[in-house]
Amino acid sequence: MMRVLLVEDEKPLLRALAMNLVARGYAVTEADTGTRALTALADARHDAIVLDLGLPDMSGVDVIRAVREYASTPIIVLSARSGSAEKVQALDLGADDYVTKPFSMDELLARLRATGRRAASVDEPLTATVGTVTIDLAMTTATAPDGTKVHLTPTEWKILDVLLRRPGALVTSDALLTAVRGSSEHTDPSYLRIYFAQLRRKLEPEPSRPRHLVTEPGMGYRYRP
Ligand code: CA
Repeated sequence: MMRVLLVEDEKPLLRALAMNLVARGYAVTEADTGTRALTALADARHDAIVLDLGLPDMSGVDVIRAVREYASTPIIVLSARSGSAEKVQALDLGADDYVTKPFSMDELLARLRATGRRAASVDEPLTATVGTVTIDLAMTTATAPDGTKVHLTPTEWKILDVLLRRPGALVTSDALLTAVRGSSEHTDPSYLRIYFAQLRRKLEPEPSRPRHLVTEPGMGYRYRP
């Protein structure tokens, strides 16, 4: 059973989230302040944290900083629509994903499943499909439905290797640049835009309207199966 720590100071929202998660088989710990969240984490192992950024006693960003001192537990941030800079900062500090309020329960559940999959499958070889093209990451082959091979460059393979292993999850531009170049320093994120344009031309059914290799503006990219 997956144990989730819910950190949210709006009591009705906290209660609604907890009820929904319990109904779907998750074990839930509730915390309405940052201090209570950190105490709960010290007391018991959790598989994921859902974290509101606006808390009464400390900023959610400070909670992330404190957690990342000692744990890699996946963190999904709940952020206000106006809090874009805050969201970027949260991701930079090691949050794994975000949903913007108001969000649907389905959206949050999809993000939680994506973090669970990442934890379970990070080292396994993998096949996936992008549109109609079958990608085999272990064999590094991309095959169209008629059997013809799609040629991908080594850099394109590095990008797919990171992205396709985490279906549904946000992968930040920094994480992709690090995978491709060994470091995200001194690298212009527009470098990635060029590679994604190439990948979409090769793999997406409609490259101008990508449905599988999706840009999250200002944040990164997401693979939608
Ligand atoms: Ca709040």
